[in-house]
Amino acid sequence: MAKRLRELEDLSVNVLAGVGPERAKALAKIEVSSIFDLLTHYPRRYIDKTKQSFIGDLRVDESAWVYGKVVSSATVPGRGRGKGRTELRISDGSGSLRITFFNQPWRVRQFPDGSEALFFGKVTEYRGHKQLANPEVDLLDEADRRQITAIYPQSDKLRLYSRDFRGWQLEALRRTQTLVEPLPAWVLDRHGFVDRTAAFSGVHLPETMAQAQEARRRLVFDELLRIQLVLVLRKHRIEATSQGVEHDTSGVILARFLDALPFALTAHQATVIAEITADLGGPVPMHRLLQGDVGAGKTVVAIAALLTAVQGGHQGAFMAPTEVLAEQHFAGMRPLLEGITVPDKTLSLFDARPLRVDLLTNRVTGQDRQRLLAALAAGEIDVVVGTHALIQEAVAFHSLGVVVIDEQHRFGVEQRAALKAKANGDAVPDVLVMTATPIPRTAAMTVYGDLDVSILGEKPGGRQPIVTEWAQGADAQEAVWIKVREEVEAGRQVYVVCPLIGESENLEVASAEETFERLETHDLSGLRLGILHGRLPSSEKEATMTAFREGRVQVLVATTVIEVGVDVANATVMVVLDADRFGIAQLHQLRGRVGRGANASFCFLVTSDTAVGGDDEERAQTNARLEALVRSDDGFELAEVDLDIRGEGAVFGERQKGRSDLKLASLRRDREVVQLAREVAEGLVADDATLASNPELLDELHLFLDPDDAAFLFKS
Ligand code: ADP
Ligand code: MG
Repeated sequence: MAKRLRELEDLSVNVLAGVGPERAKALAKIEVSSIFDLLTHYPRRYIDKTKQSFIGDLRVDESAWVYGKVVSSATVPGRGRGKGRTELRISDGSGSLRITFFNQPWRVRQFPDGSEALFFGKVTEYRGHKQLANPEVDLLDEADRRQITAIYPQSDKLRLYSRDFRGWQLEALRRTQTLVEPLPAWVLDRHGFVDRTAAFSGVHLPETMAQAQEARRRLVFDELLRIQLVLVLRKHRIEATSQGVEHDTSGVILARFLDALPFALTAHQATVIAEITADLGGPVPMHRLLQGDVGAGKTVVAIAALLTAVQGGHQGAFMAPTEVLAEQHFAGMRPLLEGITVPDKTLSLFDARPLRVDLLTNRVTGQDRQRLLAALAAGEIDVVVGTHALIQEAVAFHSLGVVVIDEQHRFGVEQRAALKAKANGDAVPDVLVMTATPIPRTAAMTVYGDLDVSILGEKPGGRQPIVTEWAQGADAQEAVWIKVREEVEAGRQVYVVCPLIGESENLEVASAEETFERLETHDLSGLRLGILHGRLPSSEKEATMTAFREGRVQVLVATTVIEVGVDVANATVMVVLDADRFGIAQLHQLRGRVGRGANASFCFLVTSDTAVGGDDEERAQTNARLEALVRSDDGFELAEVDLDIRGEGAVFGERQKGRSDLKLASLRRDREVVQLAREVAEGLVADDATLASNPELLDELHLFLDPDDAAFLFKS
């Protein structure tokens, strides 16, 4: 009988010969308890023995797999507390090679003479002879003579070795024999997938590399399809079960606002506003993500959504992640909304009153707060700007129609529930989530797959591009300060950002103060400097911000803890110190603070000569990051690079969900499969949103879902 994944999940690894209580315990530590866990404990890579390096051909500095027989082994005792140096000599017929391990005398027992193993490492030279020092090791069994060898993640500490896994997988696959195929045959045919039984044996025991690849592709698809099915079903379910507000999209308020703008909309803004307006006019509550780089003009889009609510007699709420940002948004939106009037039916049919916009943060207290809350409940306030607290607290709206959320990555099920509670009758407010940190398309499909996505991919024209330079070392740094002086002398202003040092704000403040002092007394002496960090009292912070905005402070030295959210068009230089400590997205955000006016702008990424350190990989990553920023000013392109460099962590940080199920799939390597999984999921759900016609797939989905989610998705 073909087995389901569920049955494999119910079968403990104890059933395997060679897995007793001890090994089972060790396996449990790496979260392998069931046969299903074991079969999805995938190889890290494969060794194709036809491609192995022969000892005679090895070159110094290359990384190589060497397959050899141990000829001799010995430990040279160390001095002091070290455990000495253990040397093996191995031979493969083409030559012999020394393998050296430091402080691992037990290796002598691991490699009795005559044992065969694979060694992976970088070839080095020691006293004129080639060697591998502390290589990765994979012991081979007498029986393990396959052309392709699967290499598993192993642990010396738990004494779990690749060879053990190969044995267990072989046994598990023998016991399992055939697996249930949950996918309809048309999916396999159309997209050329091997069936599941072939996939599991192909991934663990491939005959050829091509077979391993095919197997991997199928298993990757399975992981991604499960994620997409849940997202598509969730979206479908929400749309089917909730009633939205059908907004009046033909009213005049929005048209008047757009007409009165001092600029024409960009093509992207117009498209996105049309997408949003269409959602708002429909009966299904909008749940849309707006991605747009810093400066792409999201505010106008947000206001358009809010005003659409207002023109039908509803209210709009704008939520920012912090109070400071809420205040800034409020200050930024007010001038754009000036002069807009709202029909006031309480007076007479033709009367109008000014649109009322207000700010609600924790700084609004006492009587003011009471008055504001009362006005919101009475519907006298049309648009309210505030923090997240707007929907969590006991804030009552007269009729909340649209909510815009800025930079809110964690707008999940709970928040949705809170919103429902604010609903006017049964109608759930429409939601627009805005983010200035673009994420790649396939990643967005996975992380935000239950949302519709709009993109502002171009910035308003007429802006000067920002010239970005990577200034490495003392000389380059000196040149940066000369440039800063020039710009200040030309009447412009400058930001200098000091990095976050570890997790310690105190250290960070100290470094900012030190930088401030050094610049004021040396590199930038004679210029008017200001300093801004999280430990200053707010009155002082505000005074400094104001001074910078008014041009009295020429150079603002700041940490990243404070939001450098000031929009000062006259600032043309952004200097980021120790730029190697920042991620791509963060650097791109910081850079977005300049280039807002008509003058050419510059961004200097400063690193010291020695700073770009760490191991080779770290160094390569740092180089790749900084070079990407120098090369590109496009947030979407940079997001792709970030995904390439950092992998899933780059996008899953905020929304953990789904990650645990991605054991094999990589959002960066498997972009095409993500797309495919999305299409197939949409097709399946469109055919039958209960999945009742596909019980095997449904059963399997339940295995991966938490019960609450399952109840929501499939309750009748
Ligand atoms: P974001 O919020 O996406 O970072 P903003 O909405 O703050 O960007 O817009 C950045 C700047 O561009 C603002 O000064 C805004 O007035 C201006 N802007 C927005 N749309 C346009 C446009 N279509 N043409 C010219 N300038 C625009
Ligand atoms: Mg903005």
